Formats: sequence, structure tokens, C-alpha cells
Amino acid sequence: MKKKIALSGIQPTGIFTIGNYLGAINSWVKMQEDYDCIFFIANMHSLTTIKDPEYLNKTILKIAALLIACGINTKENILYVQSMIPQHAELSWVLQCHTQFGELGRMTQFKDKSKSNNVNVGLFCYPVLMAADILLYKPDVIPIGEDQKQHLELTKTIAKRFNNLYGEIFKIPKEFIPQTGAKIMSLTNPEKKMSKSSENKNSYISVLDSPEDILKKFKKTVTDSGSEIKFSKEKPGISNLIKIYSSISNITIKETEEKFKNISYKDFKISVAEAVINKLQPIQNKYYEIIENKDFLIKILEEGSKKAFSIAEKNLNEIYKKIGIKF
Ligand code: ATP
Ligand code: MG
Repeated sequence: MKKKIALSGIQPTGIFTIGNYLGAINSWVKMQEDYDCIFFIANMHSLTTIKDPEYLNKTILKIAALLIACGINTKENILYVQSMIPQHAELSWVLQCHTQFGELGRMTQFKDKSKSNNVNVGLFCYPVLMAADILLYKPDVIPIGEDQKQHLELTKTIAKRFNNLYGEIFKIPKEFIPQTGAKIMSLTNPEKKMSKSSENKNSYISVLDSPEDILKKFKKTVTDSGSEIKFSKEKPGISNLIKIYSSISNITIKETEEKFKNISYKDFKISVAEAVINKLQPIQNKYYEIIENKDFLIKILEEGSKKAFSIAEKNLNEIYKKIGIKF
């Protein structure tokens, strides 16, 4: 590999949303120009919330097809499935032995996702597996949405603690968070982030939603009192729509406000819907072509996993030797 390395993953918990697209996948596509990229489908993470073998299995191929449809180039980069590389789970155990209980208890994603009674230990240890996913490949930069920032900070803390104990083993990675698409909020509750695993389908736009559904969902979005298209803390609903529009159209928040200065909320919602529909149309067309060819997709994932395995095997061997559990 000649360039710097970027690494990131996405869970096969569902078809991804415009939140995932604007917060993460769009950056993945752009970063391919300057980085050697390693992307993975984080199916071990999905076990924390999904216990449905058929669904999990099918969604892996759908996510792979969608990533390719969005512009991920699997010839020049690595795309693999997390569970095909046993070193993630092995390093995760090692890192768990170097992570404080209190550190994991402070993670906001754990607090959010553990509100039900059915809280498994995997959900608690999720950030350590994520640290292993990252540190195993010694990447330079991690393109993520803002919701993962706290987890990445923990990854850095664990890596530094490890390096202090055993000498320089891990590279300390930097996050890359896109400015406008940083955190897209739910369409039905702008205080919560948009999530593909949400039970309320109106809370998110999936990248495979039909134009009719996209328009319907945007028309229903929660907005605020007042009538100005203005980005502000007091207007979380309309600010979220401004963020989506500016990010999709590649213009700034200010430019978006200016463009829709004298427009009603109702018409603005229609314009946002149209911009999203136009952006997603070519992605959807490509997706439906690619998903037909399951053998092609499986081959790509197997080839990617082979490449990832050889890096992971070498790096974990080094780590095991350094910490004294391998001769
Ligand atoms: P789940 O609800 O199952 O956790 P998710 O929508 O949060 O699904 P993930 O697979 O956990 O998606 O995350 C994939 C990538 O998308 C991560 O980099 C994450 O930071 C980013 N991301 C997730 N939700 C958003 C959002 N609402 N806005 C911006 N980026 C997001
Ligand atoms: Mg998530």
C-alpha cells in the first residue's frame, strides 16, 4: 500500500439512511482518491441488537451492493465482512483487559441503546470491539459520523494506554467528520439522531425509499414554530432540513438559508425532498442492477476478506508477541 490508510465500517442492521450516507459513506467515496481504503460490514456489532440469521445474512449483501452503487471501488480498495476475520474478536478481548468498566459506562450510545430491559454484555463492550476493528489495521484516518466521535476518543485512550505499557504498537488514528453531514437527526424527533434500526420508518429516509415515500416523509417532518428558514438551536427541525439540503447539494448552510429566504416551510420541505430524490435516483438504479448478481457480490467480499485477513494476522501476531502471549 502506497498511500495513507482510511478505515471505516457500517452495520448490516438495515438499508442505510441518508444520515449514514451524508455522515459517512459520502466521505468514504471521496476519500478513495487520497487514501488506500479499508471498509467493512460490521456484522459482529449487529449481533448486539439483531437476532435474526436470515435478515442479518441478506442485509450483508444488500449493504455491499449499496456501497458499490454509491461509488465504492472494490478493485482499488478492500471491502470485507468483519466476522470473516477472527482477529477482530481476539484483539477485542485483549483490549477489554485494558479498558476500565467506568469508561464503557459513560458511552452515550450504550446509555441510549440500553434503555430497554434486555441489555446484553455485547452492547456494553461494543466500543472495545470498535477499538479493535480500528487498531488492528493501523489506519491513519477514520471517516465517521459525529455520533461515533466518543467511541473514537475511547479508541485513542485505549491505544495510548497500550503504547505506554508495551511500547509503540498502535498508531493513534484521526477522525474525519464531514462538516455539514456530521449528524443528521430523526425526521420525527430532531433531538434524536436518524438511525437505520429505528422502529419508526417515518423517522428516517432510507437510500432505497421510493420518490413517493421520500416526499411523504419530508412533508410529515416535525418543524418548529415560526416561518423563517434559519439554522439555529431553537429550530432543530428546520435546522436538520437545512443540513440535509446543504449537504446533498454541496453548498453551505448560509447559502441554503439565502436560497430559501422567502419560502414557506411547506415549499422548503418539497425542495429538500426533490434534492434527495434526485441524488438517490442513480444510486437506486445501480443498486437494483448489482443486487441481482449475488455470486459477484460474494466473490468481492471473499476477496476483500482475504486481503484484510493477511494484514490482521500479521498485526495481531506482532501484538501477541509484544504483550507476552506468543513465542
Ligand atoms: P444503528 O441504528 O443500527 O446503530 P446507524 O444508522 O447508527 O445504525 P451504523 O452502522 O451504526 O448506523 O453507523 C455507520 C456510520 O454511519 C457511522 O460512521 C456513523 O457515525 C454514521 N452515522 C450513523 N447515523 C448517522 C447520522 N444520523 N448522521 C450522520 N452519520 C451517521
Ligand atoms: Mg449506530
